[in-house]
Amino acid sequence: MLDIVQIPVLNDNYVYLVHDPDSGETAVIDPAVAGPVLTEAERRGWRITQILNTHWHPDHVGGNQEIKDATGCHITGPRGEQEKITGIDRAVVEGEEVSIGKHLGCVIDVPGHTAGHNAYYFADEGVLFCGDTLFAMGCGKLFEGTPADMFDSLRKFAALPPATQVYCAHEYTEANGRFALTAEPGNDALARRQSEVVAQREKGIPTVPSTIEAELKTNPFLRARSAKELGERRAAKDAFAG
Ligand code: ZN
Ligand code: FE
Repeated sequence: MLDIVQIPVLNDNYVYLVHDPDSGETAVIDPAVAGPVLTEAERRGWRITQILNTHWHPDHVGGNQEIKDATGCHITGPRGEQEKITGIDRAVVEGEEVSIGKHLGCVIDVPGHTAGHNAYYFADEGVLFCGDTLFAMGCGKLFEGTPADMFDSLRKFAALPPATQVYCAHEYTEANGRFALTAEPGNDALARRQSEVVAQREKGIPTVPSTIEAELKTNPFLRARSAKELGERRAAKDAFAG
């Protein structure tokens, strides 16, 4: 079993510590910053051995160098963005694997939010680290990709086992849900989920991780039937003020 610890940083980012008790390895997923990550690892007596980055944005790689300097850890990131990722040691594409102890993670290429964005899927544990591609009831903005890119990327996630735990990189769920209700006003599962999310957020409870099953029922981007529909929904979300 991998132990996964969620560290909220900046306004709404989640950084994850992923610890394998058997090997003693600890990976950090998308360290926006270093300080709180190093503090949490130290508090638990975990030695950080590697960083896995999903894309080059500063709120996903900002802690790379300081954590590497402090721990000597190894950094893996997407090959398409390697020149933009500070401290990178290994650049990976789909078809390659990463490992945390004996736990293997597949690299999945998921362009759309950025051109080289990837995700890490640990099949034996049923966990997906998807950065800013899939969010709870949402998806990433299309900064470097087309609706077709994002549609194809989300299809890869939709094909994963429904019980897969989805560890995305931001707590955007409540705002995503407000928009999702306008995209699919007749979706009862979505309405129920949004009420739960509002109650959770009032108490300051994280709504992440989600599951692929929950997203298949409530996420208007994962549920879009075509790249065109996804593009229309993404444009509407970008313009949505609610
Ligand atoms: Zn991003
Ligand atoms: Fe981000």
